[in-house]
Amino acid sequence: GGRRESQSASALAAAPEAPFIRPSGRASHYDALVVGAGFAGSVMAERLASSGRRVLLIDRRSHIGGNAYDEPDAAGVLVHRYGPHIFHTNSADVFDYLSRFTPWRPYEHRVLARVGDRLVPMPINRTTLNLLYGLDLRSDEQAEAYLASRAEPVDKVVTSEDVVISAVGRELYETFFRGYTRKQWGLDPSQLDRSVTARVPTRASTDDRYFTDAFQAMPLNGYTRMFENMLDHPGIRVETNVDFRDVEAEVVYDHLVFTGPIDEFFDHCYGRLPYRSLQFRHETLQQETFQPAAVVNYPDETVPYTRVTEYKRLTGQQHPCTSISYEYPCDEGDPYYPVPRPENQALFKQYEALALARHDVSFVGRLATYRYYNMDQVTGQSLAAFRRLTRTSAVSGLT
Ligand code: FAD
Ligand code: UDP
Repeated sequence: GGRRESQSASALAAAPEAPFIRPSGRASHYDALVVGAGFAGSVMAERLASSGRRVLLIDRRSHIGGNAYDEPDAAGVLVHRYGPHIFHTNSADVFDYLSRFTPWRPYEHRVLARVGDRLVPMPINRTTLNLLYGLDLRSDEQAEAYLASRAEPVDKVVTSEDVVISAVGRELYETFFRGYTRKQWGLDPSQLDRSVTARVPTRASTDDRYFTDAFQAMPLNGYTRMFENMLDHPGIRVETNVDFRDVEAEVVYDHLVFTGPIDEFFDHCYGRLPYRSLQFRHETLQQETFQPAAVVNYPDETVPYTRVTEYKRLTGQQHPCTSISYEYPCDEGDPYYPVPRPENQALFKQYEALALARHDVSFVGRLATYRYYNMDQVTGQSLAAFRRLTRTSAVSGLT
């Protein structure tokens, strides 16, 4: 292998010398090799380079940005290749950090759910109840009392079924959550941790926003442009279409940052960690708009897709055509979601024990730490991993 004998993080802090550049354009030695150019890897690469390290950032895909990658489609409509990505965070630190690389377009996400032939607001709120049941609930108190009358007490809220049933009762659970969840995960909500459906709240108010975070915005020129700005640094070399396994032995580096699936890094030695995948069906339509919201959810289990996204409503782009995508959940394919349930967490813990013993590697991101994290959480995790790494380096004179 090309890795150095001494693989401690302290090697990271070695004084930078002028790199020897091979005819290939690759330097002979890097302070860090970063695997994966999504949020986790790109933030690490930017931080390391900005503190004087030389970084090689690789991704096996043909592009940077990971699952947040966006691009104009054939018609020129900006779309998200891997499904709708809406930025929201309560962390001023994360928002300020990313604001170095992009201006923003204020955007508050709203979602409708198709129930029968109606479109009603999701998360369930007072308007949803009034529309669905022909009610006239006029205050938060009335809506709260109504929900309380339907809620079923659950002794110990453990699963994704418990969370919803204890808040809104079985009928609303079946209308909005059971079918959607079974499609999305291939599992019944009773087989998933409470944290999954707990992502979506229930409200007695008429607030129909999907998120209530303090900062909600879309990168004005798209995610890919934001990543380009982040990685535009003389200390960072980016190579796409490069798999870690193909260059592992060839590249010389002191520290490794790995943001791919953790079970793959350890050759699945304890067996495969389940990651849920999706197939996207992208379409461009010769009409200006398609649906009344950026995202419409389809909780009906007999509809094979979970949601439809109309991208112009996220990006604010003006265009005579509109582009949409359907999401079909599946097991095989690119790993998109860790699957939160006890047996998977136990398997992850086995891999995590191996990871903790590897002081020469930082495992960061949604796939490497097997956490159902949003973009802002991954950014925060990456900033923290960088601080930890440079703190434990014997010499941190470069920071
Ligand atoms: P990724 O983006 O998955 O990046 C990992 C990269 O590593 C990939 O590009 C992969 O090709 C590369 N890689 C893996 N193994 C190797 C290898 N061996 N060699 C080379 N390269 C490798 N978050 C939000 O905040 N808001 C949203 O609205 C939102 N919507 C989402 C919708 C969908 C459909 C999905 C799937 C996710 C959504 N997310 C959203 C979550 C968001 O995508 C993630 O939080 C974020 O992209 C994770 O970044 P990451 O760098 O950890 O992983
Ligand atoms: N969910 C649901 N019905 C909905 C929306 C969400 O049952 O209309 C459940 C489903 O299990 C989903 C989870 O809540 O996977 C989290 O939803 P979110 O919209 O956060 O999913 P993501 O955007 O991460 O795919």
